[in-house]
Amino acid sequence: MKRYLFGALAAVVVGAIGLGAQQPPANPNARQNFVKIDSPVIVLTHVRVIDGTGAPARDNQTIVIRDGKIADVNDTPRITLPAGANIIDLPGRTVIPGLVMMHEHLYYTAGPGVYGQYGASFVRLYLAGGVTTMRTAGNTNGFMDMNLARRIDAGDFAGPAIDATGPYLNGPNTQLQMHSLADADDARRQVAYWADMGATSFKAYMQITRDELKASIDEAHKRGLKLTGHLCSVTYGEAADLGIDNLEHGFMASTDFVADKKPDECPGQAKGQQTIAALDENGAPFKALVRKLVDKHVALTSTMTVFETFTPGRPMPRGLDVLVAPLREQFQRAYDRVQQNQQSLYKTLFLKGMALERAFAKAGGLLTAGTDPTGSGGVIPGFADQREIELLVDGGFTPVQAISIATLNGAKYLGRDAKIGTIAAGKQADLVVVNGDPSRTVEDVRRVETVFKAGVGYDPVKLVQSVSGQVGIW
Ligand SMILES: [Zn+2]
Repeated sequence: MKRYLFGALAAVVVGAIGLGAQQPPANPNARQNFVKIDSPVIVLTHVRVIDGTGAPARDNQTIVIRDGKIADVNDTPRITLPAGANIIDLPGRTVIPGLVMMHEHLYYTAGPGVYGQYGASFVRLYLAGGVTTMRTAGNTNGFMDMNLARRIDAGDFAGPAIDATGPYLNGPNTQLQMHSLADADDARRQVAYWADMGATSFKAYMQITRDELKASIDEAHKRGLKLTGHLCSVTYGEAADLGIDNLEHGFMASTDFVADKKPDECPGQAKGQQTIAALDENGAPFKALVRKLVDKHVALTSTMTVFETFTPGRPMPRGLDVLVAPLREQFQRAYDRVQQNQQSLYKTLFLKGMALERAFAKAGGLLTAGTDPTGSGGVIPGFADQREIELLVDGGFTPVQAISIATLNGAKYLGRDAKIGTIAAGKQADLVVVNGDPSRTVEDVRRVETVFKAGVGYDPVKLVQSVSGQVGIW
């Protein structure tokens, strides 16, 4: 804030003495403020490519970007450099596809039951972290997700392409920023209204009934839109039978194995999680559920980043410096409380959750990646998206598989894999340049140097600095 005010004042003073100096940008959010590379033809040469398909990394590659698309990618000696291209030599760097993340939010837990709407700063952080496409998985504001999606497309803001959800579809609940559905008709009306307003996806929540869920799914599908759920009152098996497209938080929100589960009632997330922590990934009950989800093409979103913040013995998350001091201090206290709770169920649940997700993927299920910046805080957009890839590797995936989950699998879910999600000729040039080799050292995904979205290269340092210490205000 200080820097911006100073810049504006300086420009006014200079203008006043008639030197005709540059005016401050009219729109501080505009994407051109954060661009570092923008030319009609760009060549990234001598790079390592991890193409997002899960194939091994390829050394000494050259990528030609023309008019926002990948025109060519091949072994460097086989590429003829186009005349007039902006050639960028990048030895020691790796190029991965722009991340396609599936459980993002434009809000953050500001206090008990209060969600601060920080979309304006979050979209910069997501882009800085390498996210070029994301789905918001539930909104607590009404119109912001949809407005930001449109305004990013128009260039008024720098940020990822957004698949914007409507407000949560939930049954009776006491959340201040959430509607309580009255019945199935209400559910249908909500989906129809928010779809008309520009929502392109929907999310059901923990207290919804089967009738309301069914009505929501049917109305969304009628409009060619998908619906996901963070469930509790409805089991994963029931939701699959009703036609849901996606389930959030891996198996951490499943109540399928709660012995005395009553239909349409949430027995409490903790009760479900006790059964998940004790679940055998090789046992018949779990295998039957996985079979059903795979057969019915229900995708699963891993959000291990938010669960890591509940688990004792895990490192302090990165990126906390972007927060205003009260939010940073609030998370520090939450982190300390977690460390003191050595009896926490998460000590077993965290590792079990990873094993179950891996079993789902191994059985042929579509596993996607997300972060979920909620909980008690500490899941910081952009930084957490990189962390999610590292946690997939902790859970047993290879680095190139983890990158594929966070790129191609998201694109497949969105039905956009013909355009985005991998590095291949003809695809949109959504590319992340990192220093190092994440196929060997996955933490190198943190070392982002440039993020290309549709062939325009953004500066991650500028993006992060522009919000540093201010997330929590806007
Ligand atoms: Zn969420």
